[in-house]
Parts: sequence; C-alpha cells; structure tokens
Amino acid sequence: MLYLTDPENLASVWPDEPAYRADQLRSWLYETPVLTAEEMTNIPGELRDGLELWPFEIETEQVADSGRTIKWLMRAPDGASIEAVLMGYARRTTLCISSQAGCAMACTFCATGQFGFERHLQAGEIVAQVAYASAYLRRHGLGTSPPRVTNLVFMGMGEPLANYSHVRTAIDRFTDTIGMSARSITVSTVGVAPAIRRLADEPWRVSLAVSLHAADDELRTTLVPLNKQYPLEEVISATEYFMDQTGRRPSIEWTLIAGTNDTTEQADKLAAIARRLRAHINVIALNPTPLTADRPPTPAAARAFIDRLTASGANVTLRDTRGQDIDAACGQLRARKLMAGS
Ligand code: SAH
Repeated sequence: MLYLTDPENLASVWPDEPAYRADQLRSWLYETPVLTAEEMTNIPGELRDGLELWPFEIETEQVADSGRTIKWLMRAPDGASIEAVLMGYARRTTLCISSQAGCAMACTFCATGQFGFERHLQAGEIVAQVAYASAYLRRHGLGTSPPRVTNLVFMGMGEPLANYSHVRTAIDRFTDTIGMSARSITVSTVGVAPAIRRLADEPWRVSLAVSLHAADDELRTTLVPLNKQYPLEEVISATEYFMDQTGRRPSIEWTLIAGTNDTTEQADKLAAIARRLRAHINVIALNPTPLTADRPPTPAAARAFIDRLTASGANVTLRDTRGQDIDAACGQLRARKLMAGS
C-alpha cells in the first residue's frame, strides 16, 4: 500500500537499492500513475513483485451518462468505504473525492450524513483516489474529455475541514508532488468557520465552496446541525476572511429541496449573501436519498428560484446532476450497500 508511505520516504521501500529507485517509484506513483506494479517498466521484476500500490480494493465500478461518469466504491482493509466519482466534460475532467469514510455532520438531506461517521481518511488514502483515477484515465481515457484529472473537488464523502491535517497534507501532495494547480482544487465545506480561516492562511490558494442550503439561521439549523455551533454570520465572515486573504471568490452550494429552501424569501436572502461575498451560486436539485421524504423541486420551481436570483443580480448556475442512475450523489453507493446489508 505504497500510497500510505510519505512520497519523501519512498527510499524506505528498498533500503538496499540506490536512491534513484525511490525517484522512479515516486514518478510511477505520482507523475505517470499506473494501475499495477507490472507497468513500472524501468523497475526490475524482482523488486516489483509483491508491491501493493492501493490502500483499498475497488469493490464496485459503475459507469453512467454514456461513459462520461464513473463511480468507484473503494474498500480499505479495515472495511472503511471510500467513494470517488469521475466526470468528463468537453474541456475538463473532474474527480470528486472523499475526505472521510462516512460523515459526522448529519445534514438531513445527505445520504452520507444519514449513515453516520466511520473514520477520517489518511492523506495517502485521499491522494490514492486521485492517483487511481489518473492511472485509469491513462489506460482507458474518458471519451473525448481530457485523459487526466484537471479538476478536483472535495465533494464526496465527509467534511474535509473536520479532517484538517490529513486534507492539508493531501493538498500539499497534489500541489507539490503531483504538480496540480491549487486553483483547480475545490475544498467544499458545510461551514467549519475556524477551519475556513485556517485554510485562508495556507500557502496555497485553493478554491472554496461553502454549502449554505439556507440563508437564515432558523431554516439552516433544521438542515445543517453544525449551524448551531457555527451560525450563518460566523460562516459568512470566515468566508469573507478567506476572500480577503486569497483574493479568490468563493462559491455557494445550494441543494434545492421542494417546499423547504426553494422559496422567494430564501432566494432574496441568498442573493444578499452572495452579493456580500461576491460569490457564484451553484444550485443543484436534491438527489433523493433513501431515508427521508425530501424531494427535488419540479423543473419549473427550480427555474423560478434561479430566475429570482438572477433578477437580483446574482451569478448563478443550475448544476446538472451527474450519475443519477448509479447513485452518484454524495454517499449514495455506500448507502445502497448498507441498506442491502452487504
Ligand atoms: N461536507 C462537504 C463536502 C461533501 S458534500 C460539504 O458539505 O460541502 C458535497 C456537496 O454535496 C455539498 O454541497 C452537499 O450539500 C451536496 N449534497 C449532499 N447530499 C446531497 C443530495 N442528496 N443531493 C444533492 N446534493 C447533495
């Protein structure tokens, strides 16, 4: 499970080999990733034999959207589940990764939240999701999309800012070891205000997405339990601090739930917050989960919500929901496995 070894310590894999072996290995793991050790062609067979790369097994691989979306459910040796979803577009290939197995935030509409927390993922387990997708893309491509991970979003399972130190190390590896640009990496948070401030002070400038879902404390507390600890004003002012420190405009994520947060009142309050943050709003219709009666709005209701935002000058996109036929929404593949008792 070489991805659990710090890339700077790879010399420890073959203590008796010359130093360039560690460089070759680092290159195969992080620069031109391969799915199997046999593909590491400049490393002698006897050294390659028995090398274990991945800190997980691929339990399921599901393909949707005419081959443009691939979802993996990965399983760590201790049974922890990790999900990653690869999405191909015309000019970018985005990988959605997990920062924790399960999640402790318990947002009411989220499948991961409904099934609870398993454990934090280590930095190597976070980085290995990207390496696996990169190795897959190098071998198979993804239609006409770029055959490499161009964008990374922490929107799979878990709350990245509740697993700060491991996420921080993972981002160091993405930027330093793999050579990705920080701006192509989006950290999505439900609003851990002190950690947003900490992120603002890091040397790299990643993109920040704040999952708001409600524009006043009364409603937000019913959807996002963490709002009791970090109410809206604290989340907004931490996000302002992030913007001041990094010069990066944040995005606001808004999962639209019929009859709950799709009202004109919420739209108007949201528009005011977006103006204050100069934020782009991403609206996504709810992907229904097994344990609640929440439903997405009708297309007409979603359109009315978007139009109301646009009319007040907000910058807003209705995001397409990829991979619905393979439960690609947050935590849904794991949820289905749990429901089936497997
Ligand atoms: N914990 C982080 C990242 C993981 S969730 C966060 O909250 O941002 C990633 C995104 O998926 C969040 O914006 C979240 O609100 C959204 N999401 C979760 N469950 C969803 C569902 N059932 N339908 C649509 N979006 C959902």
